[in-house]
Amino acid sequence: MTDKLVLIVEDNDKNLELVRDILEFRGFRTLATSNGHHAVELARQHQPDVVLMDIQLPDQDGISALRQLRSDAATGGIPVIALTAFAMTEDRGRLLNAGFDGYLAKPIDVRTLPDTILAYCRKTNGSEA
Ligand code: MN
Repeated sequence: MTDKLVLIVEDNDKNLELVRDILEFRGFRTLATSNGHHAVELARQHQPDVVLMDIQLPDQDGISALRQLRSDAATGGIPVIALTAFAMTEDRGRLLNAGFDGYLAKPIDVRTLPDTILAYCRKTNGSEA
């Protein structure tokens, strides 16, 4: 189990609920929003251990939200994983070039998600697993 805090940014309700349920079952604490600007605000306030960022969002895309996080010293060090339906291999490079720490393609693999997320979490709290 873990008590890491994950900020989930996803505008698809079903996908958000799925990810949230899987992570909370493993002990993660979660925050969620469907909005890129709200995500930046939540990250500043709550300092999550990792952000799971959908790319296609209603107000701004996940790449813009990532840039806002990176441009602020208060949030610049938080790992951010892109979450996208884009399956093309060139998109992986595009997202990593944009500064994401990692990339998860939808549909999400529910069996491996918790360990994958945990591996990206900030290690500042000491205890793991
Ligand atoms: Mn979306």
